[in-house]
Amino acid sequence: MPPRPIRVLDTAVARKIAAGEVIDRPAAVVRELLENSLDAEAGEVDVDLEGGGAELIRVVDNGHGMNRADLERCYLPHATSKIATDDDLLHVRSLGFRGEALSSIAAISRLEITSAPADGVPHQVRIEGGRVVANGPAAGPPGTRVAVADLFYNVPARRQFQKRSASEFTVCRSVFLDRALAFPRSTFRLRSGGEVKAFLPPSSLAERISSAYPSQVEPALLHELDAGGEGFRARIVAGEPGAPRKDRKALQVFVNRRRVWEYALVQAMEYAYREYLHGGLYPIAFLFLEVEPELVDFNVHPAKREVRFRNLPEIHRRIVSVLSEYLRVFDRRAATRGEALPFVSESVAETRPAFDLGRVYQPPPSVADRGASPEGTASPPLSPGNDVAQPEGAAHADSSAIADSSLPFRYLGQVMDLFLVVERAQRLYLVDQHAAHERIIYDRLRNGGSGQELLFPIHLEVERDGGDVLQEQRETLRRLGIEVEERDGTWELVTIPSSVPVEAETLASLLMDLVDRPADFERELYASLSCRSAVMDGMRLSTEDAIRIIEGVMNLENAVCPHGRPVWIEWSREQLCSLVGRT
Ligand code: ADP
Ligand code: MG
Repeated sequence: MPPRPIRVLDTAVARKIAAGEVIDRPAAVVRELLENSLDAEAGEVDVDLEGGGAELIRVVDNGHGMNRADLERCYLPHATSKIATDDDLLHVRSLGFRGEALSSIAAISRLEITSAPADGVPHQVRIEGGRVVANGPAAGPPGTRVAVADLFYNVPARRQFQKRSASEFTVCRSVFLDRALAFPRSTFRLRSGGEVKAFLPPSSLAERISSAYPSQVEPALLHELDAGGEGFRARIVAGEPGAPRKDRKALQVFVNRRRVWEYALVQAMEYAYREYLHGGLYPIAFLFLEVEPELVDFNVHPAKREVRFRNLPEIHRRIVSVLSEYLRVFDRRAATRGEALPFVSESVAETRPAFDLGRVYQPPPSVADRGASPEGTASPPLSPGNDVAQPEGAAHADSSAIADSSLPFRYLGQVMDLFLVVERAQRLYLVDQHAAHERIIYDRLRNGGSGQELLFPIHLEVERDGGDVLQEQRETLRRLGIEVEERDGTWELVTIPSSVPVEAETLASLLMDLVDRPADFERELYASLSCRSAVMDGMRLSTEDAIRIIEGVMNLENAVCPHGRPVWIEWSREQLCSLVGRT
């Protein structure tokens, strides 16, 4: 095709394109309208959908409303009452602040807004494809009613890609629940095709969660915990370990009342439960974090799904310790008693360190909080090169002291169900069994591997974006022996890697989870798979398994696990002698 001259798009076309970035499907309208109602301090919000939201989305609230002058401005690009200067961006407490939602919706639908302040006269504007078609007095109670009809009617490219109304409704409902959870004092109602799909009266946080997920979360098994520190406060609604789930859907994080996909915090909660739930089981834990607006940045993701914190490591530590404290009353082994030990397959001695793990994978310090302290209290982040708390005189695993692989070692046994004790050439080693096995599996994954076909493929519940991510990552997955396939618009897990002991169900839930974080997909996949498949702390190992693990890590030059923690620590004879005062 011959090059065409550059032209500047006319405003209406440019507007439609920009609008499509903010509003990509009906659920985005539901999200934005709900946020506006909540910013207007509504005590009651009703959402009505027709055709999964594509035909009609109506949101009615009893919030503080708008007067006529504001109503005539609210749908203009960059019109907002929530900030005035860029400095205000640092202190935002409202859910919205960009002034883009209503103007975007106005550009690509037929929009009708009726509003009245508590002591004012109701007024109404109607806008079609960005043009005002009606403006005048109206009738109605105080508050605001927004109706969005025929979304994308003038954006043919977008219309073509809309999914079935049933699946759009599902996404709208989860957006609705995400908002409703963080505002338990307000009443929410969701209707679709005139039928009530959810009714959430004012309640406590725990009650709100169980009425939002009625068939899944037993209210009696939820407990509210409080945590706090400098610049933040948190309330955690924590499930009992005896009521676990098979996926991470009930592990949710809200920051300043916005649902966010902050993996480090999800991991903090999972970590606290690690001794209670093994093998593909996940806790119910909802974190509601309030952070000083100055310490957090929501401006990272267009839908504010991602967030950056200044004090993440401290928050992480507090959450782990509050949850661990709460969990102490439960029987640690209850959920895992009788579970078979995942075997250590293949000769791990063949594994070669492919690269410098410490350099390639550096999680935020908080993630490295997988401290070895048996009581589950948070310990300081460990990673080579950091100032880490270590037993006095113990050397660090990344020293090159035991590079000579020809020396035989003597395995002396397992202590504390966690450390493997080894003697070699006048040195004593304590090998962290979980970290060591994790590293072995990680290396094995890096070397690729074949797959093992599943007799019954597992359905992967992913949305459209998730499907795109799976499609993009197919090669990465295939290298590990993982095959996913799309059939009639749904995705299935078809083969699992034969080189690592991971359950198909566990892998499936891991994949569903990872598609939400496409940027880190590969790294997270490797790290989580190795963590998930490795023997846990607290597991008794057979001598054979222990020896295989030791063989696999003793000769590594930089023996750290995928989280950056040392795999073993060591003392020389001289160091031990000096500890007992023998010089
Ligand atoms: P933002 O929420 O980022 O300010 P919007 O385009 O969503 O931008 O809304 C523009 C403005 O319209 C808001 O700042 C607010 O003043 C007003 N507004 C929108 N919805 C409502 C509502 N339900 N109740 C009261 N005011 C509203
Ligand atoms: Mg808004």
